[in-house]
Amino acid sequence: MADFYVTIGLEVHCQLLTRTKMFCQCGTDYIGKAPNTLVCPVCMGIPGSLPVLNEKALELAIKTALAFRCEILPQVVFHRKNYFYPDLPKGYQISQYNFPVGVNGFVEFFTQGTKKRVRIKRVHVEEDAGKLIHEGLGLPPNSSGVDFNRCGIPLVEIVTEPDIHSPEEARDYLVMLRSMVRYIGASDGNMEEGSLRCDANVSVSPSPLELGTKVEVKNMNSFRSVFRALHYEIERQKRVLLEGGMVIQETRHWDEREGMTVSARGKEEAEDYRYFPDPDLLPVAIKPEDVEEIEKTLPELPLERRERFMTEYELTESEAGILTQEKDIADFFEACLREFRKPRLVCNWMLTEVLKNLNELNIDIMQSKITPGSLVELIKMVDKKEISGTIAKDILEEMFVSGGKVKEIMARKGISFITSEKELERIAREAIEKNPQSVADYLSGKEKALHFLIGQVMKMTRGQADPETVKSLLLKELSSGE
Ligand SMILES: [Zn+2]
Repeated sequence: MADFYVTIGLEVHCQLLTRTKMFCQCGTDYIGKAPNTLVCPVCMGIPGSLPVLNEKALELAIKTALAFRCEILPQVVFHRKNYFYPDLPKGYQISQYNFPVGVNGFVEFFTQGTKKRVRIKRVHVEEDAGKLIHEGLGLPPNSSGVDFNRCGIPLVEIVTEPDIHSPEEARDYLVMLRSMVRYIGASDGNMEEGSLRCDANVSVSPSPLELGTKVEVKNMNSFRSVFRALHYEIERQKRVLLEGGMVIQETRHWDEREGMTVSARGKEEAEDYRYFPDPDLLPVAIKPEDVEEIEKTLPELPLERRERFMTEYELTESEAGILTQEKDIADFFEACLREFRKPRLVCNWMLTEVLKNLNELNIDIMQSKITPGSLVELIKMVDKKEISGTIAKDILEEMFVSGGKVKEIMARKGISFITSEKELERIAREAIEKNPQSVADYLSGKEKALHFLIGQVMKMTRGQADPETVKSLLLKELSSGE
């Protein structure tokens, strides 16, 4: 089969974390609100109303552009992007055209074990459109309603150059992008709730020297659907070319249920939108000292933090990657290390038990009741063999739900712990005395008999001993008894 060269560019919209909309005082917390309750003449586009720029939105967009290493332009201009759609009452969207917030940036991330750089073409701000509703909310059958609550919500759009060459790279880029906008507090990046949306331009070419015809894929609502949609679209284009056909430049929608992309319409070119500067909004000068101030508020970004975790704590690239993807998890990890500087041990607990509990409860670490102090207390007790790993896992589960210190939880659950090795030694001896047959079996070479004895001790301690310690104590007793 002939080789094909895949080229992908991504356009991502993120809802900016502002309290009010981009050009009016309406609130932005539209999720769960009755349709058309967060609207006013400005965001409804009633003639005669005047937009007033939300400076916070511009500041967050500049912060995003800086995180993506863009040059910040000295002046931003708002353009009208004209098109008709029922969810756009004004008949145009206020966006940016030739004077966006930032240009010529880049982002780096790990993908399939190597570090990759993707160039960022531009970062700009724009307002969101409303939403069509096709069912529910008392709508009669075969009719649609329109909800304008989302109209005018500020978005930042991050556009890459066509530097991505596989669905895997696209997914890893998106994971990094989401992590970054969350780190800097620009967006919650929640794709399922629509606060992060991704469109892809995909082309396939038989030659590395020229690009194929670009197809835009829309309507992907999760990281998984981006991955599946890109896979599907690449294979579809390859098939068209192999059969001697031509790929048509168009927009295609991803159909999640059917697992395929479907032709939606011919692709518009920029000239179709008749961009022109919004006469109601003056250009905004961006002062270098303001940019500097914003730059100072940037935290250590996920990639830098990941690389620091690798060198400072000797973690592997993938361990550091998981720990630094969410800022709160990385902060929690480092708070633990301030109290107990054993990165390897804390990392193991974080990556297994802590993440497992968060997944099972479907919460993030800030919503759970666990604190770095209580986790460290627990790890220390296991480390000193004061409680077994099994008991520790039980206690940890309880910590996530109801909080509290290890000893409080043990008292509440009626768990005692075996502090002294002397006590365990006594129990181990007792198990040996009570089970002469197993001892004889073990001494005649039956490994299994040792497991039986370990089980007996665990039973006598109600599972509160560390099995490894029990094993070594039993071995000591058995060899001294020979
Ligand atoms: Zn409004």
